[in-house]
Amino acid sequence: MQRFDRAAELLNLDPGLYKILRHPEKQITTSIPVVMDNGEIEVFTGHRVLYNTSRGPGKGGIRYDMGVTLDEVTALAAWMTWKCAVVDVPFGGAKGGVLCDPYRMSKGELERLTRRYTASLLDVFGPDSDVPAPDVNTNEQVMAWIMDTYSMHKRHTAPAVVTGKPVVMGGSRGRREATGRGVMLVVKEALRTLGLPLNGTKVAVQGFGNVGSVAARLLEQEGLTIVAISDKTGGVYNPNGINVQDAIEYVRKNRFLEGYSSGDPITNEELLELDVDVLVPAALENVITRHNAPKIRAKIIAEGANGPTSARADAILDDNGIFVVPDILANAGGVTVSYFEWVQNREGYYWSEDVVNERLRDVMIRSFDDVHRYTKSHNVNMRTAAYMVSIDRVAAMHRLRGVYA
Ligand code: NAD
Repeated sequence: MQRFDRAAELLNLDPGLYKILRHPEKQITTSIPVVMDNGEIEVFTGHRVLYNTSRGPGKGGIRYDMGVTLDEVTALAAWMTWKCAVVDVPFGGAKGGVLCDPYRMSKGELERLTRRYTASLLDVFGPDSDVPAPDVNTNEQVMAWIMDTYSMHKRHTAPAVVTGKPVVMGGSRGRREATGRGVMLVVKEALRTLGLPLNGTKVAVQGFGNVGSVAARLLEQEGLTIVAISDKTGGVYNPNGINVQDAIEYVRKNRFLEGYSSGDPITNEELLELDVDVLVPAALENVITRHNAPKIRAKIIAEGANGPTSARADAILDDNGIFVVPDILANAGGVTVSYFEWVQNREGYYWSEDVVNERLRDVMIRSFDDVHRYTKSHNVNMRTAAYMVSIDRVAAMHRLRGVYA
């Protein structure tokens, strides 16, 4: 909200609109009774927050986690609002969560939990009102159960009610790679903006999961040299370049990078401070703090993860002239292809992977340019500019729609 406030102030946002955008539109908390495998009933608490739907249906994932609170879900729903607006997809921001420990639940228990949560939100979810997606500890199977439950109640198959579905069920081609591909595209744009070449540019990637491994592989294909990668077990550094496909194969077989020997072992903390041109944090939040920010040597940081930089580190990176492509722009490739999935479901016509990738490229480059233009016209950094672009778009919609009384 600090970042929102700063952007709102710079935009001279009307005080009434400021109040509207500072509040979630709707917060729903529901109790979810589930018959567990042992025959006993447990009651779980679930939330769904629609932060702002002025630009279109709510969009945002559902997480199953022991850390879920209404406050957290609300903050994530606000984040989705700005993320959808920065890439100009016609969605608002939403998020959901159920307080549970999915690692201690059977598949049957998770299915019953998902279906009952969906049933209690039948009036909220819908292709025109609120479209969930996977998030922490939810996956394609969970989306399939939501889609089925919703469809059974509506008496027709409604694939557009969720995104992140299996491809056979109407999921989009290219969705799995979309976030990493978006990261690759914004890194290329940032290099172009700074007048730096692709070939031989050194990159360090923290996190080697869906986002990090795809971003690393695609950046390597573009001619950049991936000199360091890491996951929760630690990392490897090789100044001559790591063969990313080889590392992906290793992780496929061994689950983690631990023991991968085509370089020197390094810690996750050391990776952040390497002498590289581009740093891609693609694992966790708050890894770049005021303590290590002064030691970061990269010229460009592309935030694949959500919230990898603390607000206090922002100013330090800024003072050191580091070009930060903020999370709401850098990792928006995923939500963009979710939007494509929804469009394809509604058209009943499915695009090839090439078409998806081409359209994603257009959206990412246009969005990068929109944000970069604001950095010039308002003399701000990329993060503040990204918030300004988003807030401007959401505010414009509110001005036109007015306040319904
Ligand atoms: P993932 O689970 O596929 O991969 C996470 C990676 O981070 C793994 O390699 C894991 O080992 C590593 N990791 C976990 N703890 C770590 C630690 N303490 N130190 C270093 N590495 C650690 O997750 P993902 O989908 O790649 O998501 C990564 C980040 O990107 C998250 O912040 C997520 O919110 C964000 N994000 C993902 C998407 C998407 O489409 N998948 C979209 C937008 C944002």
